[in-house]
Amino acid sequence: MKPAMIANAPVSRQPAPWRRALKHAFRDAGQLLDYLGIDRHGLELDPASPFPVMVPRPYAERMQRGDPADPLLRQVLPLDAERQEAWGFTADPVGDRCSSRDNGILHKYSGRVLVVTHGACAIHCRYCFRREFPYSDNAAHRDGWHGALDYIAGESGCREVILSGGDPLMLDTSRLRAFTDGLRGIGHVRRLRLHTRMPVVLPQRVDGELTDWLAGLPWPLVVVLHANHPQEFDTGVDAALGRLRDTGALLLNQAVLLAGINDNADTLAGLAERGLAAGILPYYLHLLDRVRGSAHFETDDATAAALMEKLRRTLPGYLVPRLVREQAGAPYKLPVM
Ligand SMILES: *Cc1c(COP(=O)(O)O)cnc(C)c1O
Ligand code: SF4
Repeated sequence: MKPAMIANAPVSRQPAPWRRALKHAFRDAGQLLDYLGIDRHGLELDPASPFPVMVPRPYAERMQRGDPADPLLRQVLPLDAERQEAWGFTADPVGDRCSSRDNGILHKYSGRVLVVTHGACAIHCRYCFRREFPYSDNAAHRDGWHGALDYIAGESGCREVILSGGDPLMLDTSRLRAFTDGLRGIGHVRRLRLHTRMPVVLPQRVDGELTDWLAGLPWPLVVVLHANHPQEFDTGVDAALGRLRDTGALLLNQAVLLAGINDNADTLAGLAERGLAAGILPYYLHLLDRVRGSAHFETDDATAAALMEKLRRTLPGYLVPRLVREQAGAPYKLPVM
């Protein structure tokens, strides 16, 4: 071994810089509003929400100071409205409790399995359909990946493995690498996909250790990101996405159609164009999953259809997302129009 390598060997492992950055995330709505210079009176906050506030600083820095209607702030601010019961809004709108296996696998669609890699996220999006799902009890890394890998090995039709969560990038890269090391021995797996919002909300997560791992994988790699508004991009995000693209990954974006945040054609067209500038193509635009506490984010189907019509009239076909609705028991995400 070269002496230089010995000299560089870490003596004790420090937490990665992104973990330290995450420690400084806002966990209190009042502190976030103070930071933004917004008066909390008149906002009808729910300070005791069972789904706590979590907002990394780099994401908060992209919010407009003094604007209580800021589209990024609205995605993370716990409002009283979440307590209102609304007909048809339930704890598990997409049927995940039924299709969940005790190994952290969700197998709903043919040819691909979703691995609930980790239950946690770097940000808590108020509209999230997972806000009530006990994902942490069920994450695949808990048993050293054995249950998930055994399941995938036994499903010869499974050609694609999707690392999702929560957010898979909440796990240390070394643990993710242990999973893909196990996956290498399973010949029928042809593609790997990652569903993550972290490069958008905490761009530091895309560090050298992560890109080394991704660049060394033997399969075509698709990274599906999640941004809902063009304002979620800045130079830090652009740089992180550039590093991801340099690994050879194909970058796609999924967004959720959210009332008061992105339910107008200019915003959605801006999202697609801003995403392209960062090297991402739009994938899905999801109609809101009807999870309890999210009714105030819902748009009606006629509005959604009119928005899609406008997008098609404005954008090249490759920048128009597929509008879909997830329905429990359906064999794929249902196209809406
Ligand atoms: C959304 C989802 C997928 C991926 O579906 P695609 O249409 O391939 O993007 C796979 N498994 C589960 C359980 C899902 O919820
Ligand atoms: S990052 Fe995704 S999974 Fe996590 S809270 Fe937001 S929408 Fe939900």
